[in-house]
Amino acid sequence: MRKILFASSEVYPLIKTGGLADVSASLPIALQQHGEDVRIVLPAYRQCLEALGEINTIAEIKLDGFHMPVEILQSTLPDSDVILWLINSPHHFDRDGGPYGNHSDGDWPDNAARFALFSRAIAAIAMNQLGLDWQADVLHCNDWQTGLAPALLSQYADRPKTVFTIHNLAYQGLYSRDVFDSLDLDADTFWHSEGLEFYDQLSFMKGGLSYADHVTTVSPTYAQEICGYEFGYGLEGLLSYRAEQGRLTGIINGIDEQEWNPETDPYINQTFSTKKLKNKLKNKAALQQHFLLPVKEQSLVLGLISRLVAQKGIDLTLEAIAHILEAGANIQLVCLGSGEPDFEHDLRVLRARFPDKVAIHIGYDEALAHQIEAGADVFLMPSRFEPCGLNQLYSLRYGTLPLVRNTGGLADTIVDATEDNRRDETANGFKFEKSNSEELEQTIYRAIDMHQRPRIWRKMMITAMAQDVSWENSASSYQALYDNLA
Ligand code: ADP
Repeated sequence: MRKILFASSEVYPLIKTGGLADVSASLPIALQQHGEDVRIVLPAYRQCLEALGEINTIAEIKLDGFHMPVEILQSTLPDSDVILWLINSPHHFDRDGGPYGNHSDGDWPDNAARFALFSRAIAAIAMNQLGLDWQADVLHCNDWQTGLAPALLSQYADRPKTVFTIHNLAYQGLYSRDVFDSLDLDADTFWHSEGLEFYDQLSFMKGGLSYADHVTTVSPTYAQEICGYEFGYGLEGLLSYRAEQGRLTGIINGIDEQEWNPETDPYINQTFSTKKLKNKLKNKAALQQHFLLPVKEQSLVLGLISRLVAQKGIDLTLEAIAHILEAGANIQLVCLGSGEPDFEHDLRVLRARFPDKVAIHIGYDEALAHQIEAGADVFLMPSRFEPCGLNQLYSLRYGTLPLVRNTGGLADTIVDATEDNRRDETANGFKFEKSNSEELEQTIYRAIDMHQRPRIWRKMMITAMAQDVSWENSASSYQALYDNLA
């Protein structure tokens, strides 16, 4: 049994801002089911301590660069027996607000110290320095918040192998040289362009990209895209180098099929399956009622659940939907999200203009997310870039046809409803190429037209619902990767 230490700054259902949390719960569970001994390590945020049942203090350690010792707490991931280790430093993690800031958009001013501390604790556990009698074979880190851990481990000859997964390259953890100095990191070792330095700044992300034995990201297409200028953020040279070494791999995410299962989902009005597709219409009616929209079976309901940021193409959606509604098309938009105040404002303005066609809920609501997945006909994801995307995978499972831009994980999972693809029964959604509202608008019109052809629509729903979106293959791909770490 291989010992894998899985490090992440968010884990569902304890703390979540996006897809990272979902993956950080469902991948360890899948790996455990594949016979691995997995432990998750997470900061002991206030919300996590409040949500967890039994918690035991199992170790204490003084970390370089920090005055107060930190505790290691042990619990289990809810609804599983995967062991969870929490890094308890109340000064850094016991506060109200989100994991990265006190509202969805801002950052805590001490994030560099918070995640340097987290990374140092991860490295200490990985090196079995806490008397836990558990020596990791592999340390699997995720996103910039854990990036310093592979860098710190690189200093030990007898260290475990390290894997670093990029869930979103847009967030890198960049800080000044002064911050670097404050973290008690050795400049001779780390402050150079092949180390942590990135154009005179400290890059947490580079700790993973430069020092991990293997870098992965969450879809094959995104793995290629980040090696290019448009999505590489200046790191494309380093990433291309890692790809040439054979040390950059794209592995698509799976989903938690217990949590997202239309046949058993406790949040939705009526459970359904390919054999009981009529029940999906009851969810559509319930959704329309919930949002005080006219209950009309013929209206094409478009769902959107998203962080409201430019990445997700919210501006394109606002423009395209306004245009389509001005032209009097029979659609309804149901939107759940929070994020940039300008987008929240613009969505409210759109609703005020078309109150019987546009419904919005600003905020974060897990149950409502399930109800939208179950009740909508089409799921909108016109992302400018999308490393993997989970909502299109949930949508496939719920027979809600994804309408997406052809990028990243969306490109790898959605098959456009062209005539050829419909004929060979692979079509499961709608795709467009360029990030502009015209192409999005045309594609929504294509969906509106297709919705008039119930037999084709039904067939696409069945194709979508039959698609394998489980962790089965992806967990095996991670295992093969762990096997071959050099
Ligand atoms: P990202 O990680 O970039 O935000 P993903 O599609 O990978 O995008 O994952 C987003 C996750 O967050 C999904 O599980 C989605 O359902 C959830 N989510 C996003 N916004 C909300 C919200 N306002 N309410 C409930 N769930 C949300």
